[in-house]
Amino acid sequence: MDKLHLETLCVQAGYSPKTGESRIPPITQSTTYFYGDAQAMADLFDLKRDGFFYTRLANPTVEVLEKRVAALEGGAYGIGCASGMSAILLTAMTLCEAGDNIVTSCEVYGGTFNLFSTTLPKFGIEARFFDADAPAEEIEKLIDDKTRFVYAETIANPAIVVLDFDKMASICKKAGVLFIVDNTLATPVLCRPLELGADIVIHSTSKYMDGHAAALGGMIVDGGKFCYKDNPRYPAFNTPDESYHGLVYANLPVAFGTKCRAQMMRDTGAIMSPQNAFLTYLGSDTLALRMERHCRNAEKIAEYLSKHPKIEWVRYSSLPTDKYHERAKKYLPNGTGGMMSFGIRGDVAACARFMEHLKIATQETHVADVRSCVLHPASTTHRQLTEEQLVAAGIAPNLVRLSVGIENVDDLIADLAQALETV
Ligand SMILES: *Cc1c(COP(=O)(O)O)cnc(C)c1O
Repeated sequence: MDKLHLETLCVQAGYSPKTGESRIPPITQSTTYFYGDAQAMADLFDLKRDGFFYTRLANPTVEVLEKRVAALEGGAYGIGCASGMSAILLTAMTLCEAGDNIVTSCEVYGGTFNLFSTTLPKFGIEARFFDADAPAEEIEKLIDDKTRFVYAETIANPAIVVLDFDKMASICKKAGVLFIVDNTLATPVLCRPLELGADIVIHSTSKYMDGHAAALGGMIVDGGKFCYKDNPRYPAFNTPDESYHGLVYANLPVAFGTKCRAQMMRDTGAIMSPQNAFLTYLGSDTLALRMERHCRNAEKIAEYLSKHPKIEWVRYSSLPTDKYHERAKKYLPNGTGGMMSFGIRGDVAACARFMEHLKIATQETHVADVRSCVLHPASTTHRQLTEEQLVAAGIAPNLVRLSVGIENVDDLIADLAQALETV
C-alpha cells in the first residue's frame, strides 16, 4: 500500500475483508479470544505466532486503525492508545528509566508540557527544554549520554511554530538519539515526519484524525528504521527482558514498537478502546478531504483578519508575512491546517465580548475538529493570571485562538465580522 497516494490510503489502508466479511471493520467488543489448544496459546505468549490474547495488549479493531495510521505515516508499526497523552507517556516509559533525560521543545501542547516538566521528574526522568528556534549548538549542549529522545511538534499547539525538521534531524542524527515528533496538528496529509528524519511519530487522534470530536485516542507510529543493536545509548534494548522470556528487543524487526506493547501496554493497559478505534477509523476515511477544506478556509480567514482594522496581528504560517512562512512552504507545501491565533485591538473585556457574540464558532477547549471553535486564554484557561503574568507566559491578553472548521467560509467570515463590530 506504500506507493499509493494519501487520499487512497485514507479510505483503503488498514482493512481488507475476505469474501463474505463485513466491508468495514467490525467492532470486536471482547476482552479475550478463543484458542482450541494449549500449544497455540503458548506460542502466542512466546511471540512465536501472531494473534490476540487479551484486549489490554491488542484488539482486532484497534489493529485496523494502527495499520491505517502506520500506512498514512509511512511507518512500520502502530500502537493505538487510550489518548494522545497516554501515547506520549508510553513512549517515554518504553525509552527511559530513572536517571535518564529527554530533550524537548518548550513549544509543545500544555498537557505534554505538564507531563514532561512535572510528572516525569517524579519518576526520576529529567526534561531539558529548548526554544524551538534556538540555534543547533544550544540544543546539542542539552544532549548527553543519558538522553533517550528529542521531542518536538510539527505545528506546535498552541504557539503555531513550524518545526525546523532539517535542523532537528541533523542534531539527532549526529548524536545518535531518537527524534520523536508529535504530528497531531499537521496530520500525515500535510506532513510526514518519518520522511523528514523523525524516528517515531505521535498522534492525538482525538483531533483531526477522528475529526468529529467523538473519540479520545492516541497513536504511536514506529518508523522501524532506527538501529538499537549494540547502541550504547539504548542498553535496555540490548539486554534480555526477563519479564518477557529473555527477549532482546534490538534483535527484532520492530524493536521499539514491540517493547512498547510487550512491556508498557502490558503493564498499563492504556490501549484505545475498540469503540473509539472504530469511530476514529470512520473519521479517518475523510481525513484528506477535511484537511484540504480546513486549510483553504483558514487561509481565507487569516487573510481577512490580517486586513481587519480591529485586528492587531495574525499568526498563521500560510500568510506570506508570517515568521514561519518559508519553513511552512518547505515542510507543509499543501497547507498548514486550521489552527491560528490573532490579537484583537482591545482589552480582555473587549475580547470576551467578541467571543460571546460569535454565533457559529463556539467557545471550547477542544481544537481541530469539523466545527469551528475559539478560545480566549486570558478570560478562560488562564484567567487566574494577571496581565503581567500572562505576558510572561507568552500569552498576550488579547490573544484569541481559532480552530477553523469545515463550514462554509463566507458564513465563518460573516460571523467573525459581526462579532468584531462589538469590539
Ligand atoms: C490534544 C493534544 C495532545 C493530547 O492528546 P489527548 O488525546 O487529548 O490526550 C497531544 N499533543 C497535541 C499536539 C495535542 O493537540
